Amino acid sequence: MASIIKTDTFRHKGLRKKLIDLLRAKGITDDNVLKAMNEVPRHFFFDSSFLEFAYEDKAFPIGSGQTISQPYTVAFQTELLQVSKNMHVLEVGTGSGYQASVLAEMGAKVFSIERQKILYESLKTMNPPLNYRIRLFYGDGYAGLPAHAPFDRILITAAAPFIPEALVNQLGVGGILVAPVGKNDVQIMTRLTRLSETEIKTDTHGSFRFVPMLGDKAQDE
Ligand code: SAH
Repeated sequence: MASIIKTDTFRHKGLRKKLIDLLRAKGITDDNVLKAMNEVPRHFFFDSSFLEFAYEDKAFPIGSGQTISQPYTVAFQTELLQVSKNMHVLEVGTGSGYQASVLAEMGAKVFSIERQKILYESLKTMNPPLNYRIRLFYGDGYAGLPAHAPFDRILITAAAPFIPEALVNQLGVGGILVAPVGKNDVQIMTRLTRLSETEIKTDTHGSFRFVPMLGDKAQDE
């Protein structure tokens, strides 16, 4: 990955504030989410030559055919997740690390899995300057992280053809899982809530477009 600019200027802060106002206007109401997104410099996750795009409400390529999700989508998924401090949160699809950083800024203990080695490794080297202690794993999100379960929250940030059973099994009682579910171009934002050992409640929240979740074999291997 090319050089990352790590200076957060007044200009960046101003653009970020405008983006937060836009997210609020688009219907995001959770102040913890908006506050965290106002704190995390999204431009840190961009190649320096694309800085001007960092505060537009758009998805953007991050290499390896992947994208950093649109800010509205990050806000929407995070709001659905109802995160509070010290929760153990599993993210599937680390990508740029932006979503993981927003969760960490909210006080969550974040575990994040990435299936593409190049993305995992570029973030490993960039992680310290971000000042968040995010546990990064190179592995298959379909399997989750059984050694670190149960999780209070699980967030899938790639299009899931179905919700992997292993992940549902790693959700503690009272836990919430949010995932865009669908095999085609468009996915339905789906939220599962584990009410008890045996009961799961499901609700859906409109259509989104994500890059597909990769299967067993990573494309760069
Ligand atoms: N959350 C990211 C954006 C995610 S894009 C961010 O904030 O930037 C989707 C990511 O999921 C990509 O990086 C892709 O490589 C990863 N991915 C796809 N299939 C996966 C799988 N089976 N397990 C883990 N990560 C996967």
